[in-house]
Amino acid sequence: MTPTVRRVAVIGSGPAGIYTAEALLKQADALDGALDIEVDVLDRLPTPYGLVRYGVAPDHTSIKSIANYLQRVLERPAVRFLGGVRFGDDVTRDELLACYDAVVYATGAMRDRRLGVPGEDLPGSVAATDFVNWYCGHPDIDPDMFSLDADSVAVIGVGNVAVDVARILTKTSAELHHTDVPEPVLTALAASKARDIYMIGRRGPAHAKFTTKELRELGEIPGADVVVDPAEIDLDAFDPTGDSARLAESDRHVRGNLTVIRDWAARTPSDRPRRLTVRFWLRPVEIIGADRVTGLRLERTRLNESGRVVGTGEYEELPVQMVLRSVGYQSVPLPGVPFDERSCTVPNDQGRVLGADGEPLPGQYVAGWLKRGPTGVIGTNKSDAAQTVRSLMADVQAADAQSAVPGSRRRVEEALAGRGVQPVSYTDWLAIEKREMELAAELGRGQRVKLVGWDTLLAACGAAPREPGGDI
Ligand code: NAP
Repeated sequence: MTPTVRRVAVIGSGPAGIYTAEALLKQADALDGALDIEVDVLDRLPTPYGLVRYGVAPDHTSIKSIANYLQRVLERPAVRFLGGVRFGDDVTRDELLACYDAVVYATGAMRDRRLGVPGEDLPGSVAATDFVNWYCGHPDIDPDMFSLDADSVAVIGVGNVAVDVARILTKTSAELHHTDVPEPVLTALAASKARDIYMIGRRGPAHAKFTTKELRELGEIPGADVVVDPAEIDLDAFDPTGDSARLAESDRHVRGNLTVIRDWAARTPSDRPRRLTVRFWLRPVEIIGADRVTGLRLERTRLNESGRVVGTGEYEELPVQMVLRSVGYQSVPLPGVPFDERSCTVPNDQGRVLGADGEPLPGQYVAGWLKRGPTGVIGTNKSDAAQTVRSLMADVQAADAQSAVPGSRRRVEEALAGRGVQPVSYTDWLAIEKREMELAAELGRGQRVKLVGWDTLLAACGAAPREPGGDI
């Protein structure tokens, strides 16, 4: 039997996109030769791996090594990487639907959520997404964006991104020397004046989103004292519902976090060069400053009887010159693709994109953070992608049962060539990687040092410079 060939475009080459490509091949293999799948993975960046390259902190080398796994998927003969292709600008949704049997959107969540307090846009008030992109060498961010001349920095939020950002600010540049941090970023971190770093949660330690392994690392930085006020980790003082105490009993993660935090609260600071103070039950009400940040006004919070965070009317001001807002990511809408503005996700039923009438839109699917919101660890995207692909495969098989011969389709290269777009290939990407490894050797640093800026990346693979544009 000659297998039916089905072609699928995946938009986004981060973990969700590449796990989708892998699931497509795996689920097609399970059909014993009845179906061949070819997958094109498109990305607006000339580099693959999305958040693994531009979100995972540079000193988290074991998480970054997930790229080795993703690389093996991109190297499968049935998979192509088409980098530097902007969905909506270089190729539209309708063009893709004409070229492929199915399109899977997996563009993640790259925009910061807003705090909604006065002063949020003052110079010195920074979205964690920008700061993370900066230290990860994202080509959209100017490597000279941060000079780090603040003595005191507040990080708002107690999730894992806040922990990453606080740790990068607290470590010395020597501790990051062997990582892939771009050289200008390492220079700026070496010159950082930050001495006091605060990480601030609007609820208590039992409700914090960080995970224990990540949290523990903050207490292991040789050049920094970690300070916690024992009064702020009293499980009953701010929570009349008893929920904190219940979680401390029943939830293993909460127990782990509390063990770490209680250990910190019992420590005596030893006058190390930097101090990281973790605060709870405080919410930002204003970022203070005339023409740049000079302070942060916080209100003491507690839970009310129904478990909602409420202000107590008691205020304090922290004299900080930089505020990093790390209160979660959001997805951005894709041109022509349904988007729920409230949840900032694409409406879907098990990965099938739903139209305004609640019915699935033929040939369109969604995976990853764009599908379920910015939650979970990288591995969560694997089962999530498998679910989307199960829906896709069921639809493809149902369509094949109705029409035995799928129509021939236009190649995406034609649509791209019509706009003068020459995609960055996987081989081009390998040339970028090679240059990053050479740079690390030249600088006497670790395995690789990130190249920064669009022009440098494109020059490394011999591609013509171009306007980056677009969010997607
Ligand atoms: P997150 O886990 O959702 O944490 C967001 C934090 O911001 C929470 O503490 C939240 O508090 C707080 N927050 C939200 N709105 C606020 C407001 N208006 N004022 C004050 N605080 C506010 O988000 P994230 O840290 O961006 O992480 C995103 C995802 O990536 C998570 O799944 C995370 O685990 C993952 N990640 C994992 C790693 C790792 O495994 N090493 C590293 C980085 C990120 P409430 O709980 O009170 O809303």
